[in-house]
Amino acid sequence: MEIVQYGDPVLRAKGARIETITDDIRNLADAMIGTMRKANGVGLAAQQVGYALQLTVIDVAGVEDRPSTMKIGGEEVNIEEWSPMVLLNPVLELGTEKELGAEGCLSFPNIVSDVQRAATVKAKALLIDGREVEFEATGLLARALQHEVDHLNGVLFIDRMNSAAKASIGGKLRRMQKKQSR
Ligand code: ZN
Repeated sequence: MEIVQYGDPVLRAKGARIETITDDIRNLADAMIGTMRKANGVGLAAQQVGYALQLTVIDVAGVEDRPSTMKIGGEEVNIEEWSPMVLLNPVLELGTEKELGAEGCLSFPNIVSDVQRAATVKAKALLIDGREVEFEATGLLARALQHEVDHLNGVLFIDRMNSAAKASIGGKLRRMQKKQSR
């Protein structure tokens, strides 16, 4: 699938809740996993392939320099066994501790900037097989969850940057928007 670039209005659309997990949804999730891997991303939201839906895929398992933890019911689980993760209608509860970290986005090629995020999150979502899951995450997984759930609500990482960071990429953003409107 082609990844939508900044400037396309679908990136600002709030995703519709998924009430029924159909074959179309399963196929979309599979195609998104393939697209994310091909682009070497750790997460992809449905909006980034043109669908305003509450569906995201995340895979942080192979990222050794930015570790993550995941706990279910207070017990740490093996992230590799849970990856790639397909989450439907995810809702997050953010921890109070904040952390500054580098972030990029497949819809903003060649832009990396520090973004402040909660260091820990609690997530609640449906899995692609219809089961409900609740887990706690830290590290890159916590960051990826916040980045992707923002996408599902039409919020982009540039909205989370401080004004200095955003100003430093202002020229690139304007060029991307221009390219999109041609
Ligand atoms: Zn993104």
